[in-house]
Amino acid sequence: MSRSTLQVDDALLDYICDVSLRETEVQHRLREETAELDAANMQISPEQGQLMQLLVELTGTERAIEIGTFTGYSALCIARALPEYGDLIACDVSEEWTDIARRYWAEAGLDDRIELRLQPALETVDQLLEHGEEKTFDFAFIDADKPNYPVYYDRCLELVRPGGLIALDNTLWSGSVVDPDDDSESTEAIRDVNARIRDDERVTPSLVPIGDGVMLARKRS
Ligand code: CA
Repeated sequence: MSRSTLQVDDALLDYICDVSLRETEVQHRLREETAELDAANMQISPEQGQLMQLLVELTGTERAIEIGTFTGYSALCIARALPEYGDLIACDVSEEWTDIARRYWAEAGLDDRIELRLQPALETVDQLLEHGEEKTFDFAFIDADKPNYPVYYDRCLELVRPGGLIALDNTLWSGSVVDPDDDSESTEAIRDVNARIRDDERVTPSLVPIGDGVMLARKRS
């Protein structure tokens, strides 16, 4: 069987980064500092960050939400692609990690576009919906605890306007999604959300094999 998706080795990945990254010096330093942490693998890859910047621009995003902020690299990518008056709500529960994020957002001069909500993301999302903010977001990025992915997807679909985009990170989960011996809660939740998006006529899906896999779902109506 022919395989038309190229396997990307290190040399090719370096090339991709060389010819397509427009990472700022602040983004680069944040990535280096995060790489020293034990949880470093929770950071998105720079080429994925570049794709997200493009998607934020393509969707004309003025209002975005991020579920799972970690040390703030993805938020920097989203925020710098927003217009000056744009706004990103960043959801996380870790003060330790988001202290790092805040430092770099300020350095990048983007802290006025990012509003950190330090509490469980579901509480933030439910508060937004209670305040009538349904269909007011253009872009949502989901990158938090995997067992809640299906519910994050449902809520984000309510928050995003028709024509808006939801991006879900880690949707290939290091390949675990096709490991028949892996029935962990996280893996099952990712399989579940991927299959639901495939079957959800309200969205147009595409699973992009970049980083650890990014499922895109554009809300149609
Ligand atoms: Ca992730």
